[in-house]
Amino acid sequence: MLKREKEREREIAKERIVYLIERAEKFKNVDYELSRRYVELARKIAMKYRVRIPKKLKLYFCKKCLYPYKSGRFRVRINKSTVIITCLNCMHIRRFQLRDRNVRRT
Ligand SMILES: [Zn+2]
Repeated sequence: MLKREKEREREIAKERIVYLIERAEKFKNVDYELSRRYVELARKIAMKYRVRIPKKLKLYFCKKCLYPYKSGRFRVRINKSTVIITCLNCMHIRRFQLRDRNVRRT
């Protein structure tokens, strides 16, 4: 495959990922299972085409169980400059450092 075509393919893959995660956000209070499947699909596409899920979108769902974070299903705590997000579906904990207005993963 031409390099050009491959790049175009990855571009499309990225667009689909963004679209799927946005849909997951939209449907998380309507159909939580469906919403999770959107995230799962987005991740599969990301892996297949080796594209990154945009950092911002990664904050929308638990990377372990893939359920989108929604009210009552996750907990956020802030300790000094660390944000601690706990998924209440699988209890997976993520930590982020807040520094210079940027969110940095630890
Ligand atoms: Zn989880």
